[in-house]
Amino acid sequence: MRTAIVVGAGIGGVTAAVALEQCGWQVTVLERAPELGEVGAGISVWPSAVAVLEDLGVQGVEKAAATGSAAGMRQSSGRWLVEAADIGVEIPVMIHRAQLHDLITARFGTGITVRTGITVTGLAQDDSGVTVTGTGLDPGAAGEECRADLVIAADGIRSITRRTLHPSHEGPRYSGYTAYRGIAEADISDGGGETWGRGQRFGFARLIDGRIYWYATANREAGRAVGPGGIHDDVTKLFGDWHEPIPALLAGTPPETVLQNDIYDLPLPLVPFVQGCVVLLGDAAHAMTPNLGRGACSAIEDAGALARQLRATEDLPAALTQYDAERRPATAKLVKRSRSIGTIGQLDNRVLCTLRDGLFGVGGKVAGLLAKRRRVEQSRV
Ligand SMILES: Cc1cc2nc3c(=O)[nH]c(=O)nc-3n(C[C@H](O)[C@H](O)[C@H](O)COP(=O)(O)OP(=O)(O)OC[C@H]3O[C@@H](n4cnc5c(N)ncnc54)[C@H](O)[C@@H]3O)c2cc1C
Repeated sequence: MRTAIVVGAGIGGVTAAVALEQCGWQVTVLERAPELGEVGAGISVWPSAVAVLEDLGVQGVEKAAATGSAAGMRQSSGRWLVEAADIGVEIPVMIHRAQLHDLITARFGTGITVRTGITVTGLAQDDSGVTVTGTGLDPGAAGEECRADLVIAADGIRSITRRTLHPSHEGPRYSGYTAYRGIAEADISDGGGETWGRGQRFGFARLIDGRIYWYATANREAGRAVGPGGIHDDVTKLFGDWHEPIPALLAGTPPETVLQNDIYDLPLPLVPFVQGCVVLLGDAAHAMTPNLGRGACSAIEDAGALARQLRATEDLPAALTQYDAERRPATAKLVKRSRSIGTIGQLDNRVLCTLRDGLFGVGGKVAGLLAKRRRVEQSRV
């Protein structure tokens, strides 16, 4: 039986483990955290990623039905720029990360071994496979477990594997803004969406468990210390006077649960996703800013594509070449688009913001009219 090591048990790593096992591989997952699981808040899972999860037999991430209440884009006063119900856009499933992670790992079969508390520090390839080294691994005592035919590096944006394969790569670049996230218990009927201000954005959506996931961004230098009142206080100072239900969502969020992360992505061009029998997957390959909400979805799609290519041929190098050819250009486009949306969304010049909002308003109306015409045409067929 062919063997694989997956480095990192984030959403990308666990999906890859399930996908490989279902292709008949024996998989060992190495994770540096002491326990398997996810921290974080909500996550959007777009239909293309839902389809991969469904193919893998992951239950519970059903396609979202439209909520019926308005969602879209607003200004901080609450004035609508674009209403999603008008333009008929596709809607992602919104789910808590931990729940998504649990649903995926529930598909782990007996072909997957998980070893937590292992920090991978390097790898070496030879003609017959790849040897992974790390703290917590004992090559003498468990030699067979740190060697495999294939290594999937799903070790995130600061991937040690990517650094080992591409030592001169410049690494993640700072976007210029930080992100806050939280989960609120709040009784609201608002359908959610994003509100754009000057150098700040706030978005929210209902999770499939009924709670409200919210996120916010603000321009600021990397690594700035949290204010004396804590993260919740920082974000309340920034957004507490925006339109309802934003103040209600902030008030309905336990302060100690609010997360803050400076936002980075990987510079383009992306490095090759494959070198010999080592494959980069997820943020290790193509970390993007969260503006499209597609980073984890892309990791899931990577896993789906890798499994499809491995099933298509017994020739491992050929399958991996196809994986790189399929996934690198597709994800590079997302990295670029996501970065651009962030640049526009985080504008803070008053004149440029007025211009931007005006263009979005007009664009939204045009898209709404086109969607209405499409609906009328479809109803005639
Ligand atoms: C604010 C924010 C909002 C986001 N919202 C969305 C969204 O709505 N939808 C979406 O699709 N994406 C979203 N993303 C992106 C998404 O979070 C990432 O793309 C996704 O988590 C990447 O998954 P991954 O498995 O590739 O990496 P990670 O989640 O980073 O997992 C890497 C794993 O590897 C482990 N690891 C690292 N180094 C080692 C090592 N040396 N040895 C062993 N283990 C190691 C880590 O402990 C971790 O468990 C968002 C990101 C941010 C920052």
